[in-house]
Formats: sequence, structure tokens, C-alpha cells
Amino acid sequence: MEKANSNLKDPRDKRGLEEFPIQMQDAPGVQAEMNPVPDSGEKTYGGCGRLKGRKALITGGDSGIGRAIAIAYAREGAKVAINYLPEEQKDAESLAGLLTKEGNEIILLEGDISQEDIARKTVHEAAKRLGGLDILVLNAGVQKAHKSFTEVSTELLLHTFTVNVFSPFWMAQEASQIMPKGSSIIFTSSSEYYKPAVKLTEYAALKFAVVGLSRALAKELIEKGIRVNTVCPGSAWTPLEISGGLMKEDIPDHGSVNLMQRAAQPYEIAGIYVFLASEEASFVTCETYGVCGGMEGV
Ligand code: NAD
Ligand code: MG
Repeated sequence: MEKANSNLKDPRDKRGLEEFPIQMQDAPGVQAEMNPVPDSGEKTYGGCGRLKGRKALITGGDSGIGRAIAIAYAREGAKVAINYLPEEQKDAESLAGLLTKEGNEIILLEGDISQEDIARKTVHEAAKRLGGLDILVLNAGVQKAHKSFTEVSTELLLHTFTVNVFSPFWMAQEASQIMPKGSSIIFTSSSEYYKPAVKLTEYAALKFAVVGLSRALAKELIEKGIRVNTVCPGSAWTPLEISGGLMKEDIPDHGSVNLMQRAAQPYEIAGIYVFLASEEASFVTCETYGVCGGMEGV
């Protein structure tokens, strides 16, 4: 009889702990200071050359899902540039240390992309330093939980829409003018797109906007041979969540509202970004992919 595959695990059991310890940091939060430190695939993601020779810019690539994408892309053979905020230098440097040690090239581009000129310049700086650009992952985001939408100030509204919607818009505008045919742009929405949550009113609205933007853009950019898709991650254990993305009291049960009844580790979200960037997805554009632990009907 064939021996059972010892790598197979019940997906519900990957949570690894009963509840997340309550903790708070100022935004944007530092991954290295979280307890437990999220798993962005440092020891788990393999890679087999699916993105050999590709040149990728990943926004918010220092931590969480973006860090997991950076690790996966590098190990799949891509040259990677990441953008992040100055407060996140520690996470960015630890990522650079890890990938450089493995012989992978990584370019660190610090800068606040809520500023239009920096957002636009970052795309060109990445292309210059990478020797071209054929993958753009628009992953940076901010999320602020609130008890009622009446508490959301215009200042916060403008900031969250600027980081999550305007900056990807500006960066896609720049990238689309320099990317070769066969390139891929990947936006990041959220399970909020399927099931908007109370306490995240403006975040739900802007993550719907991201899907609309991505799908409309796919129709224009196919004329240039560029594919455009969106990933909707579900709850994941990242700095975003402990730096204002969740109310303090909601941290222990983060991610329990899905069929898995748990949050993802960031590395569990990265695989779909590899697929969407790769040649295996050559027939895929204008699509929206959920990695949410099962949201339907929950
Ligand atoms: P994260 O905190 O690790 O990543 C967010 C990143 O956004 C930060 O690392 C930071 O570099 C970047 N960022 C924020 N403001 C910026 C600015 N002004 N300029 C430049 N960069 C800025 O958290 P994450 O959860 O990995 O978030 C990645 C994406 O996934 C976000 O778009 C988020 O909305 C989305 N998402 C997260 C979850 C979750 O449960 N963690 C669920 C659904 C969607
Ligand atoms: Mg970060």
C-alpha cells in the first residue's frame, strides 16, 4: 500500500495557537516586533523558477503579505524591488538580509506613496534599478477599525483612499507606459469585497473601488498586452491588524469568521500572486481571486 503523504495537513489546523495575544503597535507596525512573528514563508516557501528573469516591484513588501510575495518571487527567480515606509526599515533590512544570503537580488525603495510624486517616481526608480519592469504588485494598504462610521474623519477618509486607491492608480498609470507586452499588474483588495464588515466601513468601500479600478483597467491594458487582476486576501496575521486594523478586543479571534475558523499566515496568500504573474496565467485577466479561508455563506 502507498504510504500517506506526510506533508498533507488538515488546513484548519494551521492556526497553531488557540488565540492571538492582544498587542498593539503604532501604524504601520513592525513585523519583527509581533508575537508570534508572522510566517511570510522565510522557512517554508520553496520556488522552482516560475518567474525566472522577471522584474517585479512590490509595494508594502517589507512585511506581511507583501513580504511573502517578495520571498516567493525571489525564490521563483525574479529580481525584486520593494517599497515601504521609513518606520519599516527594520523589516525591509531583515528581508534584504535573508534574500541576499540566498543569492537573490533585492532593491529597497523607501518612500511614502501617499505622496503622488513619490508614488510615480518609485515606479521609474524600480524600473531603472531592475533593468525594466514586468510585474507590478500593488499591495500597500492601510486599515483603521472604528466603532461607528460616524467616527471616521475626512482626514482619515482621504488618507486611506489615497494609500489604497489613488497610489495604485498613479503607479499603474506610470507602469503601463513602460511595461512590455506580457507584463502583469496585480491589485490587492480584500475579503471585504465579498463580505463587508461592520467597523471597517470606509475600508470596505475602498476595497470595492480597487476591484472596479482593476477590472476597468484590464479592458484598457489588454490593448498593450498587459494582464490586470486582483487578489482578495482574507484575514491574515500581519502588522496591519495590530496597528489599528482591528479593535484591540478583536485581535484574539482574528480570522475566525471563515470556514477554516482561523487567520492565514502571509505565506498562504503568496501563491496566487506567483500564479497571476507567471506565464501559466497567460489566459487570465480582469479576474478577482479570493484567498479567504472560505467566505461563501459564512
Ligand atoms: P502589512 O502591514 O504587512 O502591509 C501593509 C504595507 O503597506 C506596510 O508594510 C507598508 O509598507 C505599506 N504602506 C502603508 N502605507 C504606506 C504609505 N503611505 N507609503 C508606502 N507604503 C505604505 O499588512 P498586510 O496585511 O500584509 O497588508 C497588505 C495588503 O493586504 C493591504 O492592501 C491590505 O489591505 C490587504 N489585506 C490584508 C488583510 C489582513 O487580514 N492582513 C486582509 C485582506 C486584505
Ligand atoms: Mg510593514
